[in-house]
Amino acid sequence: MELKGNELTLIKKIKEYKNIIIAKHVSPDWDTQGSAYGLREIILKNFENKNVYVVGEKLNLALREEDESKLNKDIISSSLLITVDVANFDRVDFYFKNEVKEVFKIDHHLEVDEFAENKIVDVSAIACTQVITLWANQLNLKITKDAATYLYFGLITDSGRFLFEKTNGSTFQAAKILLEAGVIITEIYSQLFLKKLKLAKWHNKAFNMAKFYNINQIAFIKVKTKIFKDLDLGEEEIKSALTVLSGIEEVKIWALAYKTVGSNKVKLSIRSREFDINSVAVKYNGGGHKLASGAKLDSWRQLNSLINDLNNLIE
Ligand code: AMP
Repeated sequence: MELKGNELTLIKKIKEYKNIIIAKHVSPDWDTQGSAYGLREIILKNFENKNVYVVGEKLNLALREEDESKLNKDIISSSLLITVDVANFDRVDFYFKNEVKEVFKIDHHLEVDEFAENKIVDVSAIACTQVITLWANQLNLKITKDAATYLYFGLITDSGRFLFEKTNGSTFQAAKILLEAGVIITEIYSQLFLKKLKLAKWHNKAFNMAKFYNINQIAFIKVKTKIFKDLDLGEEEIKSALTVLSGIEEVKIWALAYKTVGSNKVKLSIRSREFDINSVAVKYNGGGHKLASGAKLDSWRQLNSLINDLNNLIE
């Protein structure tokens, strides 16, 4: 396979820097976390004498990555910052992102913010972990079983278990590479898809809370702060109730919005099988992909206008 300049530049940059910080996006999901942990493992196992720090919030835990406490001014100012799975600089989950020496972006989102001079961005990839897996493979880097496991987490979740539209030959090529590196898929699936009764009950409740608009073509679950608090679930778990609205023939666009305790914004997730919901998400401080986007509403009062905009996509 032909190597493009950027792929070699990433190797060059990794070699050049002793201190490398890897940052995820805010409200992390498995694609950003798998990318960060997988890439850390690849760097540590293939390059000597590197300090690699993963920063940001941990998935489903209201905790920061332990590596953050190991950083200091000197390390930060001499670091290469690699951002994974994040399109906009303001969504990069690192307090000192403006103080690093250089930024390298690895991503698969539509490009909305050109914050790094050097980057590997493949918008045709279903997952950022796909981009990292294929990059490492092309460069003949060793992918250990641990790295492969982290990367597979991102691949399987962002592709909706290989169901979503952008799943393509390269996705299966990445899956092949990761399986051959030792991934045990049944272990990953039981970690990801076996749910606790509490979560199953939330999904059931969420379905009953759903409101349907425009002859059932739009479905919406609204999770107010009090409900969010009472549920005692992580943000990703709350958001996972989106799946109860997917795969329903009549429902063309579905969404879930929640307000966490202490936040003044409403976090919104929108999905569709066919309509370009990203064009609506960008109107509400959001973005993402054509069929899977997120956004932030200033208040619940914007809900009617949002539903109007979604209606307009269908009409
Ligand atoms: P989510 O609904 O949070 O799972 O996000 C779906 C996709 O949209 C992911 O690829 C996110 O990275 C992206 N996304 C979510 N929220 C935002 C936002 N406020 N701005 C830009 N992209 C977003």
